[in-house]
Amino acid sequence: MKGQAKCYEELREYCETVPLVDCHDHSVNLEPKYKDPILALKSGYFNSDIHSVTSEDDFRKLDNTDLSLEKRWPILEKAWKKTCHTGYAQVTRRVLKKFYGEDELTLAALKRMQGRLLDLSDEKTFDGILEEANIAVRLEDVWPNVGKVIRGTLKLTPRSRLVISLPRYHKICNYEDVQANVAPLGNIVDSLDAYLETCREIFKAHKKFGAVAFKDQSAYDRTLDYGNPTRTEAETIFNWFMEDPRRKAAYPNQTKPLDDYLFHEFMRMARDLNLPVQIHTGHMAGIRNDIVKANAILLTKVIELHRDVRFDLFHANWPYSGELLFLCKNYPNVTIDFCWANIIDPVYCQNMFKQALSCVPHGKIHGYGSDFVGCVDRTWAHAQIARENIAIALSDMVDIDYLSLDEAKEVAHRWLFTNANNFYRLGL
Ligand SMILES: [Zn+2]
Repeated sequence: MKGQAKCYEELREYCETVPLVDCHDHSVNLEPKYKDPILALKSGYFNSDIHSVTSEDDFRKLDNTDLSLEKRWPILEKAWKKTCHTGYAQVTRRVLKKFYGEDELTLAALKRMQGRLLDLSDEKTFDGILEEANIAVRLEDVWPNVGKVIRGTLKLTPRSRLVISLPRYHKICNYEDVQANVAPLGNIVDSLDAYLETCREIFKAHKKFGAVAFKDQSAYDRTLDYGNPTRTEAETIFNWFMEDPRRKAAYPNQTKPLDDYLFHEFMRMARDLNLPVQIHTGHMAGIRNDIVKANAILLTKVIELHRDVRFDLFHANWPYSGELLFLCKNYPNVTIDFCWANIIDPVYCQNMFKQALSCVPHGKIHGYGSDFVGCVDRTWAHAQIARENIAIALSDMVDIDYLSLDEAKEVAHRWLFTNANNFYRLGL
């Protein structure tokens, strides 16, 4: 992408030189070792766009590597023609060009890729791509083996800092869920008090390991409208399933008061541990989810109640930019994080970056987070797109004399690096 403004190129080049804080990612392991050219290009988020233009039968066939490239290509070609202009497709195009030297997606290109597919299980290759993307540090939500966190033996992928994966600790529906969560400390709990105390110890151990934040993506399967139930309401549900290990409450409808209560208690722990909280808002990976329950505006009561907790609200709340701009403007404890959003919808982000500059303090914006599982080839492409989105937005604002080029560079630096470095106390 190219901006129209006179200073676009200079600003774009400047953004290249700024190291990135990758605010959000899921690289559990060094992976993948690509084996199939079609999967190397379509898996991950782009898969969702393909899914929305392909029959279920054809969609399954694309993943079936027992079928030859020739057999699957007509399905992919048909889908590509319908979806080759989305932000996700931009990632695919850039990966194709950068790592395989191909300008176009064709059957011949796929055949040439075979045999020289990236092996991202190789640490040098994996880290080399991060180096090329100029990513300084990555905040990783990797749902770790908690025992390894406690013992300090968990191995993270290069340049990573851990975040605490929170949903499982409040999404408890039965006796087993509870005991599984506390087992890494060697505990068995039989009361809500004991459960909360054990969770606190587990979170402390994460912080000791180096965790820099909590992360919660419960909006995938419940509303962000957290109520504020009494302890008795929560404890009634907890005691009901604990006294009979064969009972299981339905999530989220039957467990909501307990889930909500625990979430608030964990926000108090975040405050005590002085760790910010990352919350998934807006669009969800995959297709056929419900966006209404994931709108950040539903968090208003949580933000009001927990004034000492700093909330980094994710994915630019796509497609509800206005609500998130309001929350960030209105509440000192809210920041906007553009992780993932830069490729969900590049133009949305370009517009929102401009709007953010004109309505919220520029010190409250975090510009980038890759949000892939491994796949640093896509992380590299995503970083390029994020830098371009920011350069396009800010150079346009320079063009209308809203700010000077030097000021735009300072803002870009903050959005790509400084704000997140300070917010998460990364000490870089
Ligand atoms: Zn994510």
